[in-house]
Parts: sequence; C-alpha cells; structure tokens
Amino acid sequence: MAMKTQLENARNGKITPAMVDVSRDEGVNVETVRRQIAKGYAVVPANPGHKNSKHFIVGRSFRTKVNANIGRSTDRSSSREEIRKLGVAIDAGADFVMDLSVGPNLTSVRRQILSKCIVPLGTVPVYEALSLVDGDADRLDADLLLSVIRRQAEEGVDFMTLHAGLLKRHVPLALKRVMGIVSRGGAILAGWMTRKNKENPLFEQWDAVLDICVKHDVTVSLGDGLRPGCLADASDKAQFAELDVLGNLVQKCRKRGVQVMVEGPGHVPFDQIQMNMEREQAVCDRAPFYVLGPLVTDIAPGYDHITCSIGSTAAAYYGASLLCYVTPAEHLGLPTEDDVRAGVVASRIAAHAADVARKLPGAIERDIAMARARMDFDWKRQFELSLDGVSARQRYQQTLCGKGRKADHCSMCGKDFCAVRATKKLSENLIANTARCKKTLKTK
Ligand code: SF4
Repeated sequence: MAMKTQLENARNGKITPAMVDVSRDEGVNVETVRRQIAKGYAVVPANPGHKNSKHFIVGRSFRTKVNANIGRSTDRSSSREEIRKLGVAIDAGADFVMDLSVGPNLTSVRRQILSKCIVPLGTVPVYEALSLVDGDADRLDADLLLSVIRRQAEEGVDFMTLHAGLLKRHVPLALKRVMGIVSRGGAILAGWMTRKNKENPLFEQWDAVLDICVKHDVTVSLGDGLRPGCLADASDKAQFAELDVLGNLVQKCRKRGVQVMVEGPGHVPFDQIQMNMEREQAVCDRAPFYVLGPLVTDIAPGYDHITCSIGSTAAAYYGASLLCYVTPAEHLGLPTEDDVRAGVVASRIAAHAADVARKLPGAIERDIAMARARMDFDWKRQFELSLDGVSARQRYQQTLCGKGRKADHCSMCGKDFCAVRATKKLSENLIANTARCKKTLKTK
C-alpha cells in the first residue's frame, strides 16, 4: 500500500507518530494537531526517508518556529565548515535548517548534511539543477528539475523551496523596481523564461512535481521569487501578482494531498507588515507563512539579525508561523559559525516575544520563572531559562564580583545600588516589622 502523507492521514482521521510527537512537545491535544493538519493550516515536514530527524509542526496554533540557512557559496566555505554550522544552528535552537549550497558537487554536500541533520532539512532544488549543467542556466529544463526534485525526495529532504509562482508575465513588473529580483531561485528562473520566451517550467509541470512530493511526503515551500529586496520595493504589484499565483498553487497542493507552506518577504517597512501577513493568510487560505525577516530597514548592514528580529516579531504576531533567520553577515558575506549562532538566537527572541504577545500557552510562564530567578539571585536557573544560556553565563562570569554563583547582586549597579537587593531587604524589613507589631499587640 502506498505511503500516505501527514495531510492525507490527518484527513482520514488517522493519528500518526509524528502528530503524537508534536502534540507532546507543544503541550497541545493531538486531535487539535490532526485537525490543523487536515485543514492545511499546519504542516509537519517529515519525509520518512530522513531517518534521524525530530518532528516539528508549523502553524498558527503552535509555537513560532525558526529556520537557519546554511550552505557553501562558490567563493567561500567547505562541506566541513557547513557541517560545523549545522551543529551550531541546532545547538542554538533552530527548529529547521535549509541547505542553500551552490556550486559543484552539491549532491555530496547535501547527503553529508542530511545524514547529520537531526531537524527537518529543506533545499532549493533549482540550485542543484544549475550545478549539474555547470552553472549554464540555458541548459536547464523541466526534465532536469524534476529529476533533481525526485532524487532529493528519495534521499529524504523534508521540504523544498519551489519558485513555481513566478510567471513570465511578472518579470517586467519586477524590473521596474529599485532592486529588481533578489531571490537567487527567482532570478535564475526569470532569466531562463526571458531568454527562452517560455513559461516557468515548475509552474508548467506542477502536477508532476506534486506526484513526487505526495509519494515521499515532501512539504512544498512555495518560494517568493519576487520578494522585495529593499523597502522601496515592498508591497508592489510584482510581489502581490506572484502571491495570487501562490494562492492557487496552495489549493492544488492540498487537493493532491501535499503539505504546503508559503514563503514571504523580505524587506518591508514596519507599518506594512500587518497588511502583508493578513493578505497572505487570506490569499493562501491560512497556509503556514514562512518569512525571511522581514527586515524593517535597509541601512543596518552588520546588524541585520536585529532588523530582522524587529520585523519577525511583528510578522509572527500578525500571521507568520516560521521565521527564517538573518545573520549579522547578511548582504555582506557568507556567515561564520558565530554569525549563525547570533542569527538563530535573534530569531528565537522574535518568535518567543510574539508567542508571549499571542498568549500561547506556556510562553509567558518562562518569563515569569526568569523574573522569580532574578529576585532570588538564582544565577544557575537564570542561565537555564535564557534563550542563550551559554552567552548569558559567559557575560556574567566576565564581570563577576565576589561571590560568583552565590552573589546577591551583579556588577551592573554594584552591591550598594542593586535595586533587587534593596527591594528584598525592604520586604524582609516589612515582614520583620509586621511580626514585631503583632507580638507587641499580643503582649498588651
Ligand atoms: S546589580 Fe542591578 S542589574 Fe545586577 S541584579 Fe542588581 S539590580 Fe539587577
């Protein structure tokens, strides 16, 4: 009997082991999980061919998730370095990882990453297709793209970015922009369509793509080839023309039993984020939204993990379910291991801040526990509760004063000016005074 996807099982009323796993991790009833998947409002990217992976659910009823991109560029890095970055990303708390390697021998890089990746792994198959024709985009064709998608699906890739919604008629709209097309996959396909005067091969062969995805339960991540690459290009005709096509492709995926999520911008002014999230949710019938950022300003190179985190918090509050991290190296170079860690932590802060504001069960409890640990000067507990406990501990130790883990203040304000210490003393005095008063009244 043919394997069923998580979506097909959910529709048939069947609870799978993956659904049980995510319901336990999220603290949510498994029937809620099943219903959300059945409606297409949540996805569990879990190709059975990826043997050593944990399960995660993406959707509005669940904790906001974070994706980290790794991958070799043609100028820098090696498979070994990217494997180390994979370890750093997972250690820092990434729920998903995408291998965005480009250049020669991609098959071997991906296989190594897949074998070591204990969270769901995503790819952009057009990169490997391009590597197989030595970077000559004119030699790409539908058969080659389908064969790469099939092979990656057979090897266990859990989700794939497919830029099927960028059509030939959208290209002139994008060329009117300040920055045109900034998606690598989008630019490759736009160039191909223009030079060949043909329609997007992924769009044309969508049924064949879905045949592969349904067979291996690969989750489609509909790429936003026309995401804005600067604030000036945000929310324009090109972006929304592609989004309308993505909305139709979502329905086709669901009809075929294929799990689907939708990728989103990009660079967006803060005041346009809510509208963008709501429009995607409406056009794509609440398919999980997976955003790259959005970055809320273009002028902070070196700090784009922060600009991303600001936009991601708003995005996750208003409609996104999966945040793609941005590292401090964005727009400047290939991220280092430190950049990867900083990027993951920045996105996790955004995800958690939004989950607290969305009043997700269990979210604010961690903050309350942290506040209590601070009042108790329980430094060990504070590090345990921190989103990046390693870094918190290091900073504390760097400026350690006196008693270390037993200290009743830190070097920020110092002993005599520590407000927490003063407050504790105040309440201790208050308790002692009350007890004294009671005793005096009793004696009288
Ligand atoms: S010294 Fe200042 S920063 Fe440090 S624990 Fe006390 S109040 Fe907080």
